[in-house]
Amino acid sequence: MAGRLDGKVAVVTGGCSGIGLATVRRFVREGARVVVGDVDAGGGARVAAQTGALFVSVDVTSQEQVEHLFRVAKDAHGRIDVAFNNAGISPPEDDSILETDLAAWRRVQEVNLTSVFLCCKAVLPYLLEQGGGSIINTASFVAVMGAATSQISYTASKGGVVSLSRELGVQFARRGVRVNALCPGPVDTPLLKELFAADEQRAARRLVHVPMGRFAEPEEIAAAALFLASDESSFVTAATFLVDGGISGAYVTPL
Ligand code: NAD
Repeated sequence: MAGRLDGKVAVVTGGCSGIGLATVRRFVREGARVVVGDVDAGGGARVAAQTGALFVSVDVTSQEQVEHLFRVAKDAHGRIDVAFNNAGISPPEDDSILETDLAAWRRVQEVNLTSVFLCCKAVLPYLLEQGGGSIINTASFVAVMGAATSQISYTASKGGVVSLSRELGVQFARRGVRVNALCPGPVDTPLLKELFAADEQRAARRLVHVPMGRFAEPEEIAAAALFLASDESSFVTAATFLVDGGISGAYVTPL
């Protein structure tokens, strides 16, 4: 059976763990040639050995390194069809606005939002030159809902990712480039475990609001990224694409 990404070249940031890693594995299985960009060099070597993806060490907050990542992908494979701009952080020092200092605010904005600006800016010329492509930026369900268990900079950064993606989706729609914000609900990954390790009650409090009563598996988010990357989503752009177990639709959840 033909793969759903046969012939396509995909760049995935944050591809050494969690959602990114599950997506790299899925994209490779579906026939894509994948380039992984991540700060985790050890993880990158493992992912490359396991999947055959090309690994490029990159800090997504650096314009120079981001430009290098996409140039390597283009040089290695001759084209770029998909950019999954997914790297992100959720550190415990980003908390209520009353506790969060300016340094923590800025760090999260840099890694979660400025990085998406840099990745889109770097990849768009390649996609426009080819006449098309799919950009998928990882946001979060917290971009569309407020939480009393706040992480103020994270939430604001993901709101920025949704708005930025929507605007790019509209601007470049007639030039064949689709841009969507993928908004996962809580996913069972190291990022979520780090957040909840310090506070189990916080995790339990979040689960109450998920109609499905569980966190997502990374593979379930990878399946959505696959849809947005493939030509099956050819009429989907500028979307706030929620994959959240029903959280954003719920008022009262089942017991
Ligand atoms: P994760 O911590 O498992 O993986 C994140 C990856 O990003 C790691 O491989 C890490 O090395 C890499 N990374 C971090 N900072 C980087 C930098 N400066 N440059 C390059 N790479 C960097 O996290 P995850 O849960 O898979 O999250 C992936 C994305 O999904 C993030 O944008 C996150 O905000 C978003 N998200 C996660 C959840 C969740 O519940 N896990 C929910 C909604 C959205």
